[in-house]
Amino acid sequence: MSAYNPPVRDILFTMNEIGDLPGVLALPGHAEVAADLVETIVEEAGKFAAGALAPLNVVGDRQGNKWADGVVTTAPGVTAVYKDFVDNGWGALGANQDFGGQGMPHIVSLPVVELWTSANMAWSLCHILTLGAVMAIENHASEELKATYLPKMISGEWTGTMNLTEPQAGSDLAAIRTRAVPDGDVYRITGTKIFITWGEHDCADNIIHLVLARLPDAPPGVKGISLFIVPKFLVNADGTPGARNDLICSSIEHKLGIHGSPTAVMSFGDKDGATGYLVGEANRGLEYMFTMMNHARINVGLQGVAIAERAYQQARDYARDRVQGRPIGQQTGAAIVHHPDIKRMLLDMKARIEAMRAMVYYVAAQMDVAHGSEGGVAKTAAAIADLLTPVAKGWCTENGQIVASEGIQVHGGVGFIEETGAAQHLRDARITTIYEGTTGIQANDLVGRKIARDKGETAKGFVALMREILPQLTGPLAALGGGLTQGLDELEQAIAFVVARNAAEPAVTASGAVPLLHLFGVVTGGWLVARQALAAQAKTQAEGDPTGFYAAKIELARHYARHVLPHSRAYFIAMTEGSDTVTGFDVDQF
Ligand SMILES: Cc1cc2nc3c(=O)[nH]c(=O)nc-3n(C[C@H](O)[C@H](O)[C@H](O)COP(=O)(O)OP(=O)(O)OC[C@H]3O[C@@H](n4cnc5c(N)ncnc54)[C@H](O)[C@@H]3O)c2cc1C
Repeated sequence: MSAYNPPVRDILFTMNEIGDLPGVLALPGHAEVAADLVETIVEEAGKFAAGALAPLNVVGDRQGNKWADGVVTTAPGVTAVYKDFVDNGWGALGANQDFGGQGMPHIVSLPVVELWTSANMAWSLCHILTLGAVMAIENHASEELKATYLPKMISGEWTGTMNLTEPQAGSDLAAIRTRAVPDGDVYRITGTKIFITWGEHDCADNIIHLVLARLPDAPPGVKGISLFIVPKFLVNADGTPGARNDLICSSIEHKLGIHGSPTAVMSFGDKDGATGYLVGEANRGLEYMFTMMNHARINVGLQGVAIAERAYQQARDYARDRVQGRPIGQQTGAAIVHHPDIKRMLLDMKARIEAMRAMVYYVAAQMDVAHGSEGGVAKTAAAIADLLTPVAKGWCTENGQIVASEGIQVHGGVGFIEETGAAQHLRDARITTIYEGTTGIQANDLVGRKIARDKGETAKGFVALMREILPQLTGPLAALGGGLTQGLDELEQAIAFVVARNAAEPAVTASGAVPLLHLFGVVTGGWLVARQALAAQAKTQAEGDPTGFYAAKIELARHYARHVLPHSRAYFIAMTEGSDTVTGFDVDQF
C-alpha cells in the first residue's frame, strides 16, 4: 500500500473557501482560536495520521481482531497508537470545554477526522463512535451522568458505542426488543445487540455502551424506546472503573472490510441484568439518538471523502510508476499516467473528491453557524444542514465506492490482488452506504422529512441560493454554468414532483428517492466546485499561482462539469418518468 500524504493544502482551502472558517471563528465561543492555530492543528494531525495510523491500516486489515471468551484483542500496535492518540489530546478536539474538551467548531474538528479516516478507517471508527456517544450524553443526560462519564470519554481514556441494531431491528428500530426493568435508581438491561462497532476491545480502561431498550410499560413502536448508559465496568465513587457489569461480547463478525474494527455481538444481562442508567426521559431514546445520528451521518459521509482520497493517492502514485504501452504520439513506452483513459479516471476521482469534501465541510460549517448565531441566520443554517445531511451521507458514500473502484481499475490486475492495498479501500468503503442508515433510508428521509414535510420550501430556497452563482460562471467556467443551470432546473422540477405526488402516491416518490438523492448530490457538488473555482480565480489574481494549485482547482471544476454533472439528467429521468417500472414491478413474477 502506498504512503498516505495528508492533503493539508486542499483541506485548508476548502475549510476557508467553502466552510467559511474566518466567519465561523468570528462566532461567539471561538474568539481565542486563531487561524494559524487551525493550520497547525491540521498539519500536526496530518503527521500523526500519516506517521502513526496509516502504517497500521494494512496490519489491521490482514490480522483483524481475535476473540476468545468475551475478550477481544486488537492487532499488534493498535493499543499503543490509541494511547498516543489519547496522550496527545486528539480525542478532545471538538468536545465541550466544560468537560475537558478543546471546543473547536465542526469546521475544524471534522477535517481532522478526515485525516484519521483516510489514514485508517477501521481504527478511526473507535473515535467516531465515542464522539457520538459523548454528544448523546452531553445533550440529554443528567448533570451527574455527564460528570461521571464525559471527562474520561472526551479524553479518550474510555470509549463509547452505539447499541441500536438487533437481529430483527435494523433499518426499522421500532422492532427493538431489548428490555430495561426499573430496579431502584437503576435499570436491569437484558437483550442482544448485533453489529456493535468497537463493542469490545483492549484499547481503553472502560467502554460506555449507549443502549436502546424498552421499559415494561412502554408504548409499542418508536415512541416506546428509551436510551441507557450501560458501562462495561461500573464506576466507583472516586471515578475509577469498578465491578464488571453483566454484559459480554459473545462473538465478533467476519466481514468484507474494516477488519481492524471489531464488530461485536453484545449480550446484556445473561446473569441478573446489566446495570443501566436512563438518559433523559423515558420513551424519548430514539429522539435523543437522532441528535447524535445527524452528526454521525456527517461523519460517515466524511468516510466517503476520506477513503476516496486514499484510493486516489494510491492510484495516482501507481500510475506514475507503472510503465505499460506507448502513449498516443510517443515512440517509447511510458508510465500509464500518460494514457488518456488513465488521466480521465484520475481526474474523475479527484473531481468527485473535490465536490464531496466541499459538501461535507459546507454542512459542518452550517452546523457551526446554526449553533453560534441567532434568529433567521441560525434558522436558515440549521435548515440547510438538516436538508443536506442525508445527501452528504448518501451521495458521498456512494461516490466513495465509485472512486475506490476506479482506483482498482487504474491499477489493472494488481488492483484486484490484495498486496497492493487498492482492494482494501473498496472493501472498507463498502460498509459506508449501509451503516448509519442505508442509502435507501437516507433517500426516504430526504423525500419525506426534508422535502415533502415543508412542501419543498427549504429545498427550493436552497436551489435559489445555488442559482445566485450562475452569472459569475463565464469564460473558462461557462460550461460549468450551463451544466449547473440545467441541473438546477432538473432539481427544482424534481422537488416540485415530490411536493405534488408524495402525499397521494408515496410509492412513486419512494421509487425515485435514491435517484433524487443522487440528483441533489451531483448538482450541489457542481455548485460547490464552481464556488471553489471562483475562489481559485480570485486567489490567483491576488497572490499568483506558482505551484499550479489554483489552476488545478479550476480544471477539476471544468472536468466535473463535463464528466460528472451531466449525470443529473439520468437521475432526473429515473426519479420522475422512471418510477413507473418500479411501482409496476411484480415481485412474484420474476
Ligand atoms: C460493519 C457494521 C458495523 C455496524 N455498526 C453498528 C453500530 O455500531 N451500532 C449499531 O446499532 N448498528 C451497527 N450496524 C448496523 C447497521 O446500522 C445496519 O446494518 C443498518 O442499519 C441496516 O440494517 P439491516 O442490516 O438490518 O438491514 P435491513 O434493514 O434489513 O435492510 C436491508 C435492505 O432493505 C432496505 N430497506 C429496509 N427498510 C427500508 C425502507 N423502509 N425503505 C427502503 N428500503 C429499505 C435497506 O436499504 C437495505 O438495502 C453495523 C453494521 C455493520 C455491517
